[in-house]
Amino acid sequence: MISKFTELGISEDIARALDDMGWVDPTPIQEAAVPIGLQGADMFAQAQTGTGKTGVFGSIILQGTESGQRLPSAMVLVPTRELANQVAEQLVEIAKYTGHVSVPIYGGASMEVQMDRLEKGADIIVGTPGRVIDMMNRRFLNLSKIKIMVLDEADRMLDMGFIEDIEYILASMPKERQTMLFSATMPEDIKRLAGDYMRKPKEISVSQDEVVLDLTKQYYISVGRRNKSWALTRILDIDKPKAIIFCQTKKMVDILDERLTQLRYTVKAIHGDMPQQKREKVIKDFKEDKIQILIATDVAARGLDIDDISYVINYDMPEEIDTYIHRIGRTGRAGKEGVAISFVTSEEEHLVKEFELRTEMTIERRDVPEAEEGTRDTIRKVVDYDQISDVYGMVRFQVNLGKDDGLGKVALAEHIIRAAKVRDFAIGKIEVGAGSSVVEVHMDFGNRMMMDLPKARYKNKKVTVRIAQD
Ligand code: AMP
Repeated sequence: MISKFTELGISEDIARALDDMGWVDPTPIQEAAVPIGLQGADMFAQAQTGTGKTGVFGSIILQGTESGQRLPSAMVLVPTRELANQVAEQLVEIAKYTGHVSVPIYGGASMEVQMDRLEKGADIIVGTPGRVIDMMNRRFLNLSKIKIMVLDEADRMLDMGFIEDIEYILASMPKERQTMLFSATMPEDIKRLAGDYMRKPKEISVSQDEVVLDLTKQYYISVGRRNKSWALTRILDIDKPKAIIFCQTKKMVDILDERLTQLRYTVKAIHGDMPQQKREKVIKDFKEDKIQILIATDVAARGLDIDDISYVINYDMPEEIDTYIHRIGRTGRAGKEGVAISFVTSEEEHLVKEFELRTEMTIERRDVPEAEEGTRDTIRKVVDYDQISDVYGMVRFQVNLGKDDGLGKVALAEHIIRAAKVRDFAIGKIEVGAGSSVVEVHMDFGNRMMMDLPKARYKNKKVTVRIAQD
């Protein structure tokens, strides 16, 4: 087999796995760094999340070490447990034909499970510094056979105060080894680390740090919690994508699954509580187009490898950039264009900026697609008080009552309390006008204002209420 990857010197058993993963062309950093790494040289590379760096050190490790050894021969240090899991999973995918076993080691999870896995034999350790040291000190982790060492997202590890831990770990492994460091930025302390612990490291600078997710157009839609399902069905009805929808919790996956099934969409859900067999069946059905929409949690969607997903929809916006990248990496595969749409509530909009900065990608704002005239929405849009309230949860309502009706502030408030059963503490500022007034009411009582207040007439006058426009 010849592919663009074998041309870089990657062996066939690895290239075949990359091919299975839908990777057709190497990314710029893969092109630049893999040939150097395969020669055994130390390197430090400036690379952000999303550039394909895991593929770089992954293939170098697999090719440079033998699988099935008693003691680990490679280690990847990462800053967070999310990244540990994601890197370990990608290594499992790349190692499909080489059989290397990767074990993630991180804090906050059962030590016993991790010890068990280490005892069964691990070729590659992917760990966070703290837990790795813990395991070393308890003599569950022996680093005497490490041949390849990777520091991933080194700048973040230093920011998190891991420098001493990292140096301790580096000092506990053989000096004869290959060391690779990846970092989004190159501050002085990273350069010093590279100088102290690497041998004539090659510096990899990819002229433009391209992100692989180039084939994926990224959008966000500003939508309140209560209107997410309205926005979702609009997208499904109008764009008709083959989509994977990510929710933050299993519960939300279940709710959405039930709701969409009731509305007769061909959907299935996967999450961590489902038996593996059932999950696999669902994924198979999705692959074979028997279902159009898959709803998933992050855990369940790990390692999901399907070429023709046209949309990734973040029903809930993830808080971690790694999770975001990983999710949207499910589309735009195998040279096909993909679309990622994230639903973002007003409190989450800062995440968009943050992710854009971290990855140097743009996430464009778009609107919910327009329904054709005359068609009815599958789910109706509701007033989303969350989105229109101020920081204290207050919403401004305009009521067609005022001085002309003989009302002042107090009388108006009293009428609202009586007629709409709004509690007095939920009423804020009132501006009484001649023919209409603006009343601030807490969003929890929004429906009462909109639905109940108009039901009662005031001195025989029909009362109308709407959201006040500033
Ligand atoms: P990373 O920067 O390693 O976190 O990779 C970001 C995403 O890009 C992951 O979802 C990878 O699976 C994907 N990826 C990496 N290299 C390639 C490639 N050559 N072709 C297509 N996708 C890739």
